[in-house]
Amino acid sequence: MSTTGSATSILNSEVLVLNSAFLPIRISSVKEAICLVMSERAKTVLEGEEVVRSPLVSIRIPSIVSVVGYNQFPRRKVAFSKLNVIYRDDMICQYCGHRYSMRDLTVDHIIPRSRWETVTGKDFKEGFSSWMNMVCACRWCNGRKGNRLLQEINWFLLNQPREPEYLPHLIISFEKAKRKGWLPYCTFNVRLINVRP
Ligand SMILES: [Zn+2]
Repeated sequence: MSTTGSATSILNSEVLVLNSAFLPIRISSVKEAICLVMSERAKTVLEGEEVVRSPLVSIRIPSIVSVVGYNQFPRRKVAFSKLNVIYRDDMICQYCGHRYSMRDLTVDHIIPRSRWETVTGKDFKEGFSSWMNMVCACRWCNGRKGNRLLQEINWFLLNQPREPEYLPHLIISFEKAKRKGWLPYCTFNVRLINVRP
């Protein structure tokens, strides 16, 4: 296949995939979405700007497709990671309550390493790096807190940390959703984030 623009970048650009009930379930590449459409496993819901050409066909690339005959909703247990702690807390520093861009965010151990054993009586294997002891913190609050406990500096957590059952399956920047025409389909199972500072 050849394309009107940079073939590789167009074929690798993103397509919003909906289930047959038009709920967003994942993001795929244009290449994969075209294969789904050509094999009649998906239908194009919204077309993009560019055109992909092969000797036999010429098709406008899809921006949104819906899978035929699949009205389920993929659910998953959230894997524990620093990034998911930040997403759980909605990119909001749990100490000062402000939302920051990713580059200014860190993950803080509420009870710091140097105090863990004294406070909890447990070793590091038990819950030190866990959903319960980690929160999203901006780098300034993290630096100011240092190795102290919250009660020592009279700080409070914005939310009690918890293990999330499920995160929204798709995390998409608002700007991208708007640019690609995805917004009308981003009302369910999508968390729109503003990636600008
Ligand atoms: Zn902060």
